Amino acid sequence: MTGWRPETILQHGGEEHHLLGAVVPPIFQNSTFVHETLESFLASGEGRPGGPYNYSRVSNPNLDVVEQKLAALEKTERAKVFASGMAAITCAIFSAVKAGDHVVCVDTVYGPTRQFLSGFLSRYGVETTYVVGDDPQEVFDACRPETSLLCLESPSSIFFRLQDLAAIGAFAQERGITTVIDNTYASPIYQNPATFGIDLVCHTASKYLGGHSDIIAGALCASEERVSAMCHQEYALLGAALGPFQAWLMNRSMRTLHLRLRQVASSADCIAEFLRARPEVEDVYHVGLPDFPQAELRDRQMRGWGGLLTFMPKFQEKEKVVRFCEALKIFGMGVSWGGHESLAVPLEGHPMNWKEPRFLVRIYCGLEHAEDLVEDLTGGFKAVQQ
Ligand SMILES: *Cc1c(COP(=O)(O)O)cnc(C)c1O
Repeated sequence: MTGWRPETILQHGGEEHHLLGAVVPPIFQNSTFVHETLESFLASGEGRPGGPYNYSRVSNPNLDVVEQKLAALEKTERAKVFASGMAAITCAIFSAVKAGDHVVCVDTVYGPTRQFLSGFLSRYGVETTYVVGDDPQEVFDACRPETSLLCLESPSSIFFRLQDLAAIGAFAQERGITTVIDNTYASPIYQNPATFGIDLVCHTASKYLGGHSDIIAGALCASEERVSAMCHQEYALLGAALGPFQAWLMNRSMRTLHLRLRQVASSADCIAEFLRARPEVEDVYHVGLPDFPQAELRDRQMRGWGGLLTFMPKFQEKEKVVRFCEALKIFGMGVSWGGHESLAVPLEGHPMNWKEPRFLVRIYCGLEHAEDLVEDLTGGFKAVQQ
């Protein structure tokens, strides 16, 4: 795999040796593995990629295939796949904190991650401080002697704010603070945080990696040392493993990741431009805008973006925002994103540097034709005028 480009890794990574000549790996739908020698049996407990295998709660050949692909894409030594994105994120956080520790986290992090830090970990004596995160100095200033973890999400949820990964990574390494990032929005195709010194790179594979709205899965990419420690601790003890069939589906879907990303990003660019030209729209949040406020940082640490954007309508009556979304025929109203189908959800946003909450609409552009999506949104604006 050394030297392969992402498109090639997606097809052949972890699949160099075909079993019986099969071009698609078979599904190892088994919980346990038996051994002919005691030596092999004892070595299997290590959960190393390529075996010997022990028990599917720790490792399995189908998990290996996607893990090797992900590690190669993210330019890390190892990767593990999890039963969900939240399993990957919570295990990553658990691996870096103990009672009495302090965490610094970006304010616009994915909602359930925030809930885990503030509503769950707080019960075990771990305190979290939230920061806007645009200015690295603000992140540094929030650190205390007992800070053990920085939680990043760049681009972040709903507002797609970026953090300076190189600056934060260098600061944290010097201070011996672990860094974790939710890299789901950028995908491993467009951003590799480990190359900027970030320790733990998480993904929810329920989104772009899965890509067809048919699996729930997660992933974590990091050094051999961190992943191997996690295999014995959080991964095995919390029972966070992905099932073999889910991993097989994920591998099938990852083959088209680069193509799907390119398509949804081009639709999102087109829709962002359309929304900006509409008189009913106050603001559009989209990483791909030519005048994106953090364009210089974006071009330094990202190679592209995906199909998500948010807009703030000038009509701020909840009833009108709901009517807009309900009038859409192609865009479904639902959580998640990253699949084949377009979605639009009304939400109330209140980042810490805003005085009051505002109504927003989050849009995910799927794989439909962009012109059909534009026509659908035009119908939504018409419904609001009536
Ligand atoms: C959906 C999502 C998650 C959670 O992933 P699950 O697979 O649903 O557990 C985490 N982070 C981000 C940014 C997400 O969009």
